[in-house]
Amino acid sequence: MAGRYDLAVIGTGVAATATATRVRAAGWSVAVIDYHPFGGTCVLRGCDPKKVLAGAASALDRVRRMQGKGIAGDTHIDWPALMAFKRTFTDPVPEQRERSFAEQGITGYHGRARFTGRNTLEVNGEAIEARHILIACGAEPVKLGVPGEEYLATNEDFLALAALPRRIVLAGGGYIAAEFSHVAARCGAQVTIIQHGDRMLTRFDPELVDWLDASFRSAGIDVRTGASVQAIEKNGSAYAVQVAREGGTDSVEADLVVHAAGRKPDFDALDLEAGGVAVEKGRLRLNDYLQSTSNPAVYAAGDAAQMGPPLTPVSSHDAKVVAANLLEGNHHRPDYRAVPSVAFTIPPIAAVGMSEHEARNKGIPFRMKRQKASNWFTARQAAQPVYGFKVLVEESSGKLLGAHLVGPHADEVINLFALAIRHDLRAEDLKEMMFAYPTGASDIGYML
Ligand SMILES: Cc1cc2nc3c(=O)[nH]c(=O)nc-3n(C[C@H](O)[C@H](O)[C@H](O)COP(=O)(O)OP(=O)(O)OC[C@H]3O[C@@H](n4cnc5c(N)ncnc54)[C@H](O)[C@@H]3O)c2cc1C
Repeated sequence: MAGRYDLAVIGTGVAATATATRVRAAGWSVAVIDYHPFGGTCVLRGCDPKKVLAGAASALDRVRRMQGKGIAGDTHIDWPALMAFKRTFTDPVPEQRERSFAEQGITGYHGRARFTGRNTLEVNGEAIEARHILIACGAEPVKLGVPGEEYLATNEDFLALAALPRRIVLAGGGYIAAEFSHVAARCGAQVTIIQHGDRMLTRFDPELVDWLDASFRSAGIDVRTGASVQAIEKNGSAYAVQVAREGGTDSVEADLVVHAAGRKPDFDALDLEAGGVAVEKGRLRLNDYLQSTSNPAVYAAGDAAQMGPPLTPVSSHDAKVVAANLLEGNHHRPDYRAVPSVAFTIPPIAAVGMSEHEARNKGIPFRMKRQKASNWFTARQAAQPVYGFKVLVEESSGKLLGAHLVGPHADEVINLFALAIRHDLRAEDLKEMMFAYPTGASDIGYML
């Protein structure tokens, strides 16, 4: 007999869990399904374990930068011990999540879900029928379509390495490549990034990315832009990565090749056609309420919905919207204004709101302050020469349009700009704030 529920949720990540919990609290019967151990990408294979590693790499880097400035004697990263520390965060999650679902009366299914009808799913031969179905299946590394791509390690593999290989190639140049390369280089690996675009981190301000480039170079990371992976060949326990560049092909030797070339939802396994769930150009066709336009029983949230940027706070925001629409009818639309994003390089780079390019394209009159601020106290005290910002303010209203930061505390200070933009504050409002001194935030007044 089929398990019958008010809501069946595909996934157990942030989007799935936050929706399931809210809807269950309102008295609905709910099931969640995942083929991975419960918990989702962020806490098990993404943000959290990555930040544990980046935190250690950043501590080591600070010690090294402070040599001769009061710190004496080098130190190093003990990779197995760091991994053991990382596991104190990740290992308990699946069991805790499992228990929490059970305590709330949410039924958990392990296995891959696929649609068998407009309101039905199948998981490991078990049938599930639900009034509503939420697709919160997240994203997977995209297929590169090159020979030997089966040799690529995923983010999950990298974040679970028992030992760190000596030579690592990262295929791709987005935030995963940037962050993993900074960690691996500080841990002693020889790192090469193969990026087909003409610069790294294309979602961040190009000028600030140029300033950050010095930190890749000083960490000894070999960044090859305008280059693309053509094939990966296995030679015993090593790999030869064939790289095409203007004017020829190179081969880079590696002990590990990591996929860092972007992520997209994997809808193939879901058999969306059987569920009457329309897809267009790789995206679910959704209305403003995150509901499928072809099957109103189905909603989507988080990375699977692809409506906002693929970030954890967006998954959590989508979940609140979907839960409210399920419980109260379609009244709530997601609001993706001012979602801050950070790449946890050393130092971090961050952005929120409009880019300079976007503001110019929209023809919005704005004033802009940009500066490389290596000589400011914040940078000198941290012995971190990479420090700079670009802030855009609308001429007519004095409101903040966008902020772009690189350097110490950029990952925290960006949140204050996000708050200001989301709540339509003017630059003057921020300038008048008394921020604790000396902190990253106390520089804000000088950035405006
Ligand atoms: C290495 C890395 C670092 C990141 N760092 C950050 C960061 O610093 N900050 C940030 O905001 N975001 C970061 N992200 C992005 C963030 O992790 C995602 O945006 C977020 O986790 C998406 O949550 P979700 O609930 O939409 O999906 P997920 O958490 O991905 O959950 C989807 C779940 O669905 C399951 N699933 C998929 N298909 C099926 C199926 N057919 N049947 C059953 N189950 C299925 C999957 O196993 C998965 O567990 C990072 C991502 C990666 C990969």
